[in-house]
Amino acid sequence: MAFDRARVQDVEVAGHTALVRVDFNVPLAGGEVTDDTRIRAALPTIQLLLDRGAAVILASHLGRPDGSPDPALSLDPVARRLAELLGRSVAFCPEATGEEAVRMADALEPGEVMLLENLRFDPGETANDPAFARALASLADLYVDDAFGAVHRAHASTEGVPGLLPSSGGLLLQEEVERLSVVADDPERPLIVVLGGAKVSDKIGLISRFLEIADEILIGGAMCFPFFRAQGIETGDSLVEEEGISLAADLLASAEAPDTRAELVLPVDIAAGESFDAGAERVELDSDSVPEGMLGLDIGEKTAADYAVRIDGAGTVFWNGPMGAFELPGFSLGTRIVADAVASTDGLTVVGGGDSVAALVEFGLTDSIDWVSTGGGASLELLEGIPLPGIEALDGG
Ligand code: ADP
Ligand code: MG
Repeated sequence: MAFDRARVQDVEVAGHTALVRVDFNVPLAGGEVTDDTRIRAALPTIQLLLDRGAAVILASHLGRPDGSPDPALSLDPVARRLAELLGRSVAFCPEATGEEAVRMADALEPGEVMLLENLRFDPGETANDPAFARALASLADLYVDDAFGAVHRAHASTEGVPGLLPSSGGLLLQEEVERLSVVADDPERPLIVVLGGAKVSDKIGLISRFLEIADEILIGGAMCFPFFRAQGIETGDSLVEEEGISLAADLLASAEAPDTRAELVLPVDIAAGESFDAGAERVELDSDSVPEGMLGLDIGEKTAADYAVRIDGAGTVFWNGPMGAFELPGFSLGTRIVADAVASTDGLTVVGGGDSVAALVEFGLTDSIDWVSTGGGASLELLEGIPLPGIEALDGG
C-alpha cells in the first residue's frame, strides 16, 4: 500500500507555522535521553520544514503521566538532545497549551523550532477533548503527523488537531506505512513471521491475518504456552495467560482449515528455570515435559536452530516479540539466535515492537535489519489491516 494521504513534501510551508506531532516517547534516566532513535527518526521532516522556511512547533507524549504534570516525564531533556542533533537551538515551552504556549508560538520565526511540554500532562490529550485540540491547533496554521508510534491512538494531537488544520503526513510516517505494507501486501516468498512476547491476546488479530497471508508463523516467547495448554500439554509453572488458551485453540483450529495458507509452528523444546530470576539456571526440556516447579523462559536450542534455518530461507521476514525472557542472562539465547538469523538472511527483514527492537539494540544488530519500525502497537495494527485513526484523519493525497 502506498501512503495515500497528503504528504508534507507536497505542501506549501514557507512562512507558515507547522504543528508537528512527533513520537519523542524515549527512555530517560537521570534526566538524560538514553536512546535517541525516535528523535533521530523525526529529523528529516523537521529539517525539511525548516529548510523550506516554516516555523516548527513539535508536540509529543512521553510515558503515561495520566493527565497531570509529572516532572520525571518532562520533555525538557528531549529538547536538549534535539538541539544537539539539529545543531540549532530548540525553545522548550513548559506547557502544551495556554498563555505561555501562545506567546512563544507567536514569537517563533521561520527556521525556528520549539518543543511543547508532554501532551499527556493534560487529560484532554488521551480523552481527545475538542477544546484541547482547538487550543493546540490555535498555535499553528498547518499540521504534520510524523508520530507513527501514536497513529493507532485517537487522541487530541493525533485525531482532533488534523480535523482543524490543513494536515499531511511526515516523511517517517510515510516510510513506515510503505515499508510495513510490503510485508502484508507484496512480500517476497516465503513470508516467515516470527512472533513472541508475553501474551497471545495482544497478537491474536495479527496471527489470524498472517494465517491467511504468511507461509510460516514461528511462535516463541510465553505466547507458546496457551497453545500447548490448548493441546492438552502441561506447561509447569510457565506464564500462561488463561484467556489466551481458548484464543489459542481457535487459532489452532484455523491453522488446520484446508484453505489456510500458513503453517503455525510451535517450539519443540523449551529452556526452563526455577524462577523468573537473573540467577536462574537454564535447563533444556522437550516442550511437553516442563514439570511443576519450573517455568519455560525461552525457546530451546533445537527450536532456535530450526527457526534460524527457516529464517535463512525466507524471502521476507517480519519479527515481533522476544523468544524468551531475554532480560535474564540465561534465557536470552533463543532471542539472540533468532535476531542473528534475521540480521543475516538475504530476505527483506522488518522488525516491530518495543522489546524486540530493544533486543536488537542490545545485540548491536539494528543496522543489519532492512526496516526497524518506531511503532510497536501501531506496526501491529497496520499489519493487521486495522484503519489507523491518526492516518485516517489526515487530508487526502
Ligand atoms: P514487543 O514489545 O517486542 O512487542 P512484548 O511486549 O509482547 O514484545 O513481549 C516482551 C516481554 O515478553 C518481555 O518482557 C519478556 O520478558 C516477556 N517474555 C517473553 N518470553 C517469556 C517467557 N517465556 N516467560 C515470561 N516472560 C516472557
Ligand atoms: Mg513490549
